[in-house]
Amino acid sequence: MQVLGKVLIAFLPDDLGSALKFALLFIFIPIIFLTLIFAGPITAYEKVPLVSYEQVQMYVTTAEKVSESTKNSYSNGVEVDWKDLVAIDAVRFNQDFSKISRDEIEELAKMFIEITGYAEVKEGDNVVKYPIYRLRSVDEVMNMLNFNKKQKDKVKEFLSIDFSELLDLPDVTISNGWKPVENELKWPISGGYTITSGFGARIDPVYGGESYHSGIDIAVPLGTPVKAAADGEVVYAGWNDGYGLVIFIWHNNNLETRYAHLSKIAVNKGQIVKAGDVIGYVGSTGKSTGPHLHFEVRIGGKAVNPLDFFK
Ligand SMILES: [Zn+2]
Repeated sequence: MQVLGKVLIAFLPDDLGSALKFALLFIFIPIIFLTLIFAGPITAYEKVPLVSYEQVQMYVTTAEKVSESTKNSYSNGVEVDWKDLVAIDAVRFNQDFSKISRDEIEELAKMFIEITGYAEVKEGDNVVKYPIYRLRSVDEVMNMLNFNKKQKDKVKEFLSIDFSELLDLPDVTISNGWKPVENELKWPISGGYTITSGFGARIDPVYGGESYHSGIDIAVPLGTPVKAAADGEVVYAGWNDGYGLVIFIWHNNNLETRYAHLSKIAVNKGQIVKAGDVIGYVGSTGKSTGPHLHFEVRIGGKAVNPLDFFK
């Protein structure tokens, strides 16, 4: 920031009023800076529920269990949609799904069920009452939860995206305990070897539909340092739609590596880096469903499978 300040002062014409100079330096530039830092992660954060595969399984099984409880000889029952539950909880818990419990999910699922009456059936000497159920709408449940307009809109925004792909088993291309063999390229993360999505065709986790996956996704906690895979020059460091905060590095032999969805960038365009240098930190910016490093290798501009370099 200090260095940047000096650079910017150097660019300002000398005859500029000192008050204006002051305003530029201490008001507008920090505002632009903060906008750049926060705008990216926030947009990505708000696109899709940040729920893990295991947590999704809890929603699915609980929704099924509650739906199942509404079936009887006189009622086909109603189907509670796990996606409605996830969308509501994404708003209720402000995307922190670590706060949810199975009991709370069940409580929420039950709010979707209303008993509208009973079928009274004579069974032997007794009259047995079978409940007739109706599925409440998302709006009705949100009213019961006293959601305000903003919260309701947020839930609808989540539901406007088909996030059923969250149900797909993570596409683990290598077995547990696998370690990369480092040769021409170094592994870009210390200790993180879990690949949640491999290179090639896959279901788009954010927008749905088939899409080509131009790299591999390595699951690592938010803020994990990301390292340059080889010596090279930073040719891009900044925001890019889809990639979020991303770094492109050019190496020898027409080789290029890309590191996407970062929370923070620690290098500048034009900087020469050595293999293993920390260049940024793992995040979830851009088109991302949770913290991970999207690592890409290109030869002559064409994306290739990064894992081929680590066998
Ligand atoms: Zn990816």
